[in-house]
Formats: sequence, structure tokens, C-alpha cells
Amino acid sequence: MTAAAPAPRGAEAARRVLERCDELARHSSMPDGIERVYLSPEHARVNDIAAAWMREAGLHSWSDPAGNQCGRRSSDPAGRPALLLGSHLDTVPGAGRYDGILGVLVAIEVADRLRETELPFALEVVAVADEEGTRFGTTLLGSRALAGSWREEWQELTDAHGTTLRRAALDFDLDPDRIASAAREPGSLVGYLEAHIEQGPRLEEADRALGVVTSIAAAERRLLTFRGQARHGATPWHLRRDALQGAAEAVLAMERLARESGSVATIGHVRVEPDAVNVVPGLAEFSLDLRDETAAGRDAAWGRIQHELQAIGLQRGLDLDVVSTHEAPEVVCAPELRDAIAAGIAATGDAEPPALFSIAGHDAMAVAAITEVGMLFVRCAGGISHHRDEAVRADDVALAIDAMEAAVLELAARRADGAGDTRPSSAIGA
Ligand SMILES: [Zn+2]
Repeated sequence: MTAAAPAPRGAEAARRVLERCDELARHSSMPDGIERVYLSPEHARVNDIAAAWMREAGLHSWSDPAGNQCGRRSSDPAGRPALLLGSHLDTVPGAGRYDGILGVLVAIEVADRLRETELPFALEVVAVADEEGTRFGTTLLGSRALAGSWREEWQELTDAHGTTLRRAALDFDLDPDRIASAAREPGSLVGYLEAHIEQGPRLEEADRALGVVTSIAAAERRLLTFRGQARHGATPWHLRRDALQGAAEAVLAMERLARESGSVATIGHVRVEPDAVNVVPGLAEFSLDLRDETAAGRDAAWGRIQHELQAIGLQRGLDLDVVSTHEAPEVVCAPELRDAIAAGIAATGDAEPPALFSIAGHDAMAVAAITEVGMLFVRCAGGISHHRDEAVRADDVALAIDAMEAAVLELAARRADGAGDTRPSSAIGA
């Protein structure tokens, strides 16, 4: 339906997007890397910059009560339900410059191209304020506020310096008691489309620039603690209840069991007490981030892991505490939006784009609580992400902009036909 261009016509736009990624990368709290967390001064600065770019693209822009920077085509009448395009601007510590950021900038380019185009829906862009959860240890704060899933108890979350989210919101000039009012009205959105780097190697291995996301994997995070007894380093073996040795055994067991289950497990945090060279650790705290294509698969893997951890604790005389800190079921991308993205990619010359599920979590997971979601993946070098070596190709970015624009037009054509006059609901996975 749109002009199929064999070569990307967006080379100029891609160059601008990549320059903007470089510019945002300079706003970091780390002297020697990228870190940009929720409600920080860097967050405020990149919101201002994104707002200026949104205005240049013909959007009017505002910061919502959760600190998400939003934009809407000035020509769209108030009250018309909107198609929302976006991703996030926050990062993990030591981040790359494309995770999340690329999707926001692609969305702004698409809005710019479509500024004069009649669409059967309004067009909005969102730069989500918190997806990674780096500062407060809870992910998707920005997108969950937008989707109406904000919980007031999150005001009491604290960062590594003991600053509460409530205090940080006040310092950011947000009213912490009004963050929940960032929630969009049900029915005010017709869908959400997000472009994102794949954060995996599958597109590169298939020699393809873009892919259609079918679903986002189920994930769960737990904080695990073994408690034994702290004792002098001269204590004989048979009297030791060494929490760290138990944790070490657990870490390897979790890797083995997750592999056998077809899941992925990451143990990215370990802390011991009392943390002294000549004291047997009496406490070992460690995290587990467990992901699987489905919640059922994830839960089956956890069942095996839990059984093994209990056995390790029993054998070593350690008590085990398990605290669940995050749980998300798989989110299935809406068939209509998947089709629109596939048609968008096809318009760039790849008639049968690869379909793949996302192992990483995304804002789309949270937004699925309020509207249907679709995602487009962009190849990234070596599948590397959450690392300074994150890289994308300019020609892939150009294709992504073309494909996303074509996906919006495809969806517009379907909605104008009345074929897809859907209400949000079916995007939420079991
Ligand atoms: Zn991301």
C-alpha cells in the first residue's frame, strides 16, 4: 500500500537519529560511560531535548505526571484516540546508546514524516522515563504509570543512597501523589508500536535487518538469601555453615537447571555478610532473573530450581529466604499490529520478515495493560546490549524508520476500512 522502496530512503533520517543517540549519550551520571536513571538531573535534561525534537517534528510536547515525555501531533483533535509510538530514554549503568533511545527517535522521525498525513487516529510519541528500573530496583515504572498500573507503595522505594522515590519525584518537580494520574484513559489509545534493538543475535545470524516480535517472554526476579553462621576463618570444616559456599553451589545449579529447562537465568547480584577476608560468610544474598517464552515454562524451571536450593540449604545447614521482586507473564503482540509491522517491513523489501519472541522485557509489556501492542526489532551487532559496545548499522536504522512509517500507514488503512476497529484487551498474555 505504501511505495515499496528497494533502498532505504531514510539515510538522512538515520544519520540524524544516530547523531541524536550520540547527543543523548552525553547526558550521563557516569564519568566514563552511560547511566541515566529515573528522576535524575540527566532524565530531566534528555526530556527537555526530546521535547524540542518532538516540537520540531510537529508535535506538541508535555511531561506527564510520571515524568514520561509525551508528544502529540498538533493537528490531531483533542479526544481522538491515539496510536502511540515510543520506547524509553533511561538506561542501566554502563549502557549502550541505543537500547530504548533508538525507538524513541525512530518514533519522532515517523511522526515528522506523517505530520501532514490524514490518519483515522491521532498520533502520539512517548519517551518513557523508567523501563530499566536501575534506580529503584523495580522496572517499567514509567510505562506502568502510563498504563494505569502505578502502585502508591512505590513512593517508598529507595535508591542506593537511601533517597525515596517520593523525595526524588519532588526534586524532579513532580507531585508524587499524582504520579498515578499519568494513566491513560482506557479507549484513549488504539495501539502501541515500539521499535527496539533486538538485544540478541538472531537477526544478525539470519542476516536480516528487521524482525517482527511475536511476544515478550515471561520474566521473574527473586532475591534469595542463604543464612548460615558467621565464624572465625579458623573454624574447622565440619562446624561451618558457610552461606557463600551454598550460594556458589546454587549459582551453578541455577545455570544447569535453567539450561535444561530451555529458560535463561541470570545471577547478577551477590552480597555477603560480614564481608571480611577471615570470616566465614554468615549470609549470602543473591538475585535470580529467570525468563522463558511462557509463564508456564518459567514456573516449571523455578520449581526445579527451588527444589535444588532447598536441598543445598538442607545439606549445608543454611536457611533459605526467597522474596519475589518482579513478575511478568508473557505478553503476546496483537495479531493486527504484528501484521502491520510485517507489512511495514515488507514495504522496505523483506517480503517475509523473521518473526521472533523477545527474551528481554520492554515497555510494551506494561503498555499491554491498556492497549494492544506491537514491536519491531532492529538488528544489533553481536546481540550485545546493556554494554557500551552496543551498535546498530545506519542502513538498518533507515529501514526501521521506513518500516515503522509504513506500519503506521498499513494500520491506518486497516482502521479506515473498519477492519480493525478493536478495543484494547487481547494483547495481554496468559
Ligand atoms: Zn530497552
